[in-house]
Amino acid sequence: MAERKYVYFFGGGKADGRADMKDLLGGKGANLAEMANMGLPVPAGFTIVTDYCNVYLQQGRKFGPDVKDQGGEALRKVEQVMGMKYGDADNPLLISCRSGARQSMPGMMETVLNVGLCSKSIAGLIKRSNNERFVYDAYRRLITMYSDVVMEKAEDIEPAEGKGIRQQLEQIMHALKERKGCHQDTDLSTDDLKYLCDQYKNKVREVLGRDFPDDPQEQLWGAIGAVFKSWNGRRAIAYRKIEGIPHEWGTACTVQSMVFGNLGNTSATGVAFTRNPATGENKFYGEWLVNAQGEDVVAGIRTPNPLNEATKSEQNQHLPSLEKEWPETYRELDAIRLKLEKHYTDMQDIEFTIQDKKLYMLQCRSGKRTGTAALNIAADMLTEGLIDEKTAVKRVAPKQLDELLHPIVDAKAEKGATMLGSGLPAGPGGACGKVVFTSADAVAAAREGKKVILVREETNPEDVEGMRAAVGILTARGGMTSHAALVARGWGKCCIVGAGKLKIRHEGGKWTLSADGKTVSAGDVITLNGTRGIVYQGEVAMIDATENPRLQDFMKLVDKYRILGVRTNADTPEDARVARRFGAEGIGLFRTEHMFYGAGSEQPLFLLRKMILSNTTPERVAALKELAVFVKRDIKDTLEAMDGLPVTVRLLDPPLHEFVPHSDDARQQLAKALHISAEEIRKRGEALHETNPMMGHRGVRLGITYPEITEMQVRAILEAAAELKKAGKDPKPELMVPVTCDVSELEATRKVFDKVRQEVKQHTGIEVECPYGTMIEIPRACLLADRMAKAAEFFSFGTNDLTQMSFGFSRDDIGGFLGAYLEQGLLDADPFQTIDQDGVGQLIEMAVQKGRATRGELKIGICGEQGGDPDSVKFCHKIGLNYVSCSPFRVPIARLAAAQAALGK
Ligand code: ADP
Ligand code: MG
Ligand code: MG
Repeated sequence: MAERKYVYFFGGGKADGRADMKDLLGGKGANLAEMANMGLPVPAGFTIVTDYCNVYLQQGRKFGPDVKDQGGEALRKVEQVMGMKYGDADNPLLISCRSGARQSMPGMMETVLNVGLCSKSIAGLIKRSNNERFVYDAYRRLITMYSDVVMEKAEDIEPAEGKGIRQQLEQIMHALKERKGCHQDTDLSTDDLKYLCDQYKNKVREVLGRDFPDDPQEQLWGAIGAVFKSWNGRRAIAYRKIEGIPHEWGTACTVQSMVFGNLGNTSATGVAFTRNPATGENKFYGEWLVNAQGEDVVAGIRTPNPLNEATKSEQNQHLPSLEKEWPETYRELDAIRLKLEKHYTDMQDIEFTIQDKKLYMLQCRSGKRTGTAALNIAADMLTEGLIDEKTAVKRVAPKQLDELLHPIVDAKAEKGATMLGSGLPAGPGGACGKVVFTSADAVAAAREGKKVILVREETNPEDVEGMRAAVGILTARGGMTSHAALVARGWGKCCIVGAGKLKIRHEGGKWTLSADGKTVSAGDVITLNGTRGIVYQGEVAMIDATENPRLQDFMKLVDKYRILGVRTNADTPEDARVARRFGAEGIGLFRTEHMFYGAGSEQPLFLLRKMILSNTTPERVAALKELAVFVKRDIKDTLEAMDGLPVTVRLLDPPLHEFVPHSDDARQQLAKALHISAEEIRKRGEALHETNPMMGHRGVRLGITYPEITEMQVRAILEAAAELKKAGKDPKPELMVPVTCDVSELEATRKVFDKVRQEVKQHTGIEVECPYGTMIEIPRACLLADRMAKAAEFFSFGTNDLTQMSFGFSRDDIGGFLGAYLEQGLLDADPFQTIDQDGVGQLIEMAVQKGRATRGELKIGICGEQGGDPDSVKFCHKIGLNYVSCSPFRVPIARLAAAQAALGK
């Protein structure tokens, strides 16, 4: 059997891999190969495939001879291209070992730089670079990274808080800097760095009980192994859970020749976006640092410089831009920017290093962006002719639209607000909440349903869970490419970074945030304007993002490619109007129960109770007659708001026990109205008690036992519509019967419907068209959908109940166990939020097929909570539903998801 190919080489203008091989090479490896093939200046290297990560971890973290041979061979090719030799005494090649999965997991896994520096190679590198300081700078970095990543993390050593080897080494450096009065790492002299390297090695031996390895081969394979191992690091696992990335993918490991940004004042390192990732503006946007390496820019060690003059901000306007400092290098980089955009036809996030004014590309990938940026970039690229309409529609993730529809800080209220400070606008939109200072506090507060803003000096990957839980993020340090900015952007979260004037203190166990003589403690409210980068004390009013013309144009494009209809679940005329503005094509679920809750519900609630507690038909009919007035008005208002569009009115499905009066006062009043004693009211109420109300006397069953209730509602609907028609309107009601499990229920209800229709026609002289259908929310109804369709002209899947009854999970009680199911990976997702396509999905598909076999033109929709979930929408498109119905704010999201499904995304 031929040996499997585990190693892919790139360098010298060609590569074994390509951009579309991300599954195998990881995003980083695949794009490095692509850039090498494009002829861009990429230091040579090779990538060990993601599959090998699994092999390595499964075989007890050992390398087989196959991968060692292939790796060794590739390394020799790298040496040839670079004209240097790994571990050599005279002309040593150094390498980096870099992690990279199919999907970007920023900062969640490990990378080790400067691998190959050892006693033997140090002298050679000093001679070749003629720069002793640089060599010891690289060496101290290697010892720090290697001891942390390879000797500690990969060995599953869990040091006490603050006692990690990296922190202990950094403390040694801090102490030295303090002693020497150095402000920055770059102020340290050669001797200082030499001294540090010795101290570091001693510390490593003392803390980890092992010597820092001095053998280049041991360093190489140790680092590769640690990169693979970092796939299962705590942060990486937590991130995968949040992002829904499968644990079995594995990471690739790219071994690449080092180029040095820390070679002195003609060297630098930087990161950039080909367009602004926060706003989408078509300007090259990035940050760079002279005499620095790798993580320095992202880690916020020094405030990075702006890339060019056009994108300078208040915070960095005094710093030199690459454009001004080294115009030739900038022009070269800018040309690569354009070449990459043209090649990938998307905004790219790039990493580069300049060694002695020579530019090298170290990474490119499709850049994370806010919803605003996604929309603007898609629209601009369409205009520029880089992409076509279909691609533009695919470029905005449905979930990102959410951010464009959500509140922003009210500019008027902002004028009078007390400003605390300002920083870089890393994640747009507004956020207002109580201040927390640790990730753990953010998680705890969010569990209690509190809105919090996470305030940190800077964030690191250990903070992700807290960042997720917070409504907004504020950091004192870091730039637009810092960890906080990247993560917040990925999630579309409001975020301000680098608010340097804000002082965060932790004294006597108490955290505070202060600026300008104002102090904020944990629990105090602040407001962030993430679009402008301004922090306010207290609560500042928010407003809805006004209808943005770009969004409207984009949504027109979306509708051009959409096949699936999108309706809304709305119970009031206000909701109906909002949903219409968002493009809803009707109401898929209108519930009359809403009039018994909240403001203005007193009178209808009283009448409903009277009806529920009636003992005889005449009593009930009398109560219903009074209630009918309210029901009719309610339906009429909504039909009017949705004029010309269908409104599916569901028959009452109230949980009766919830409406039984408990206060003495309410009982007295009802007793009077029904002319019976309060004691009798109490007794009747008790009689309504059910052991399992979710499966009790509800839905269609109510109308089977008391047809007069159905009769009242049908009359209300038809009369409301008749009156509107008389007034020249175009009402389109549809009647939907809930909680059915047999066609006989539909037939019985249909008799009432037909009878009332005749009556209304007779006395108004108007014939109202009103399709008759059913909700499908009991598994038995799916199994017998062919029969159900004999009586129903349409189906609407009530996926909340259908999920409840398919899983046997009580919707109201999942809090006790669903968390554990998700945590332990027993379920991939909450089936009440996204349709369980494996199980419930089968029932739905079966019902669609059986229903349409009986009635070819059967109209089918879905009105459960999942109707606004992009994955569920795509499923609904796939199985040929006519429409989804979701809450008003989800309508644009569903429209986009539907269009993308039609375009095969
Ligand atoms: P991450 O996935 O966390 O971004 P990377 O593998 O991209 O990790 O490495 C982080 C940084 O290290 C890069 O942005 C780059 O600046 C630096 N780096 C990595 N490999 C090399 C190399 N071969 N030469 C110079 N710098 C490198
Ligand atoms: Mg990187
Ligand atoms: Mg239901």
